[in-house]
Amino acid sequence: MRDLCIVGGGVAGLAAAIFTARAGLDTLVVDGGESILARNASLENYPGFPDGVDARQYLQLTREQARNAGAEFELGRVTRAEPVTEAALEEGFVLETEGGEPLEARRVIAASWPNSDYLEPLDVGRMQRGNKHFVSVDEGGRTAVDGVYAAGRIADEPHQTVVAAGHGAKVALAVVYDSEVPFYQDWIVPEGYFTGRDRDVPPGCAEIDAEERRERDEKARARLLEAFADPLDEEPTMHPSVERD
Ligand SMILES: Cc1cc2nc3c(=O)[nH]c(=O)nc-3n(C[C@H](O)[C@H](O)[C@H](O)COP(=O)(O)OP(=O)(O)OC[C@H]3O[C@@H](n4cnc5c(N)ncnc54)[C@H](O)[C@@H]3O)c2cc1C
Repeated sequence: MRDLCIVGGGVAGLAAAIFTARAGLDTLVVDGGESILARNASLENYPGFPDGVDARQYLQLTREQARNAGAEFELGRVTRAEPVTEAALEEGFVLETEGGEPLEARRVIAASWPNSDYLEPLDVGRMQRGNKHFVSVDEGGRTAVDGVYAAGRIADEPHQTVVAAGHGAKVALAVVYDSEVPFYQDWIVPEGYFTGRDRDVPPGCAEIDAEERRERDEKARARLLEAFADPLDEEPTMHPSVERD
């Protein structure tokens, strides 16, 4: 059984996966399609990109970052989620997917905008607005069912990429906290930042020396130069109701 299954590999799900995987949780992302962000023509309000960024490139790089952090991925649409044992939620959940083997995880993050029908058997508290269902959560993304969380637009967060990413990270940290793995912050700091004050490096943090920092910086710059050397050969996905020739 995995520590965590994240349903939805869009903006919120990928951001969550980066944090849970880096904290050492065995994280599986199950994605049944495409992020709604793939419809964007130019992402111009995500901090860090002064003139914007190709939204599909952003999604690809974020997926790569989650994979580098140790998250695993599976394609498939989740159709049903239920407890392994009705009496004991801490024993985890079984997720059924279209055409795939059932998946088991101790905790589940629903990051599956706009679909949450698979949560019906769990009675997590869904609210209908128009033809959409949102999932009610507390400030950490926890639903009414212990072990089940929701992140991003499906948790009724504002419909913006940076908000969905930030919420995914916040919910992930609630999962880390609830999982009781040793954790302080996910920080990389210069050598001596803690130990220079006779403190142990707290769990989740790492101190790196100047050489290691240069190596990491070089690798990061090389990857970004490669990624942005040429435009991505992908078009935005049009709204399904727009007729095209
Ligand atoms: C046309 C358009 C343009 C936009 N432009 C901007 C912009 O310029 N700036 C900005 O800040 N925001 C923009 N947004 C908003 C932004 O795309 C969303 O706010 C953000 O993607 C929400 O993130 P999310 O993770 O909640 O959902 P998503 O990124 O959509 O991810 C949800 C994922 O869950 C998967 N999924 C759904 N159901 C299931 C299931 N049952 N099983 C498995 N997987 C499932 C989906 O396939 C998808 O990959 C735009 C949105 C649209 C539609």
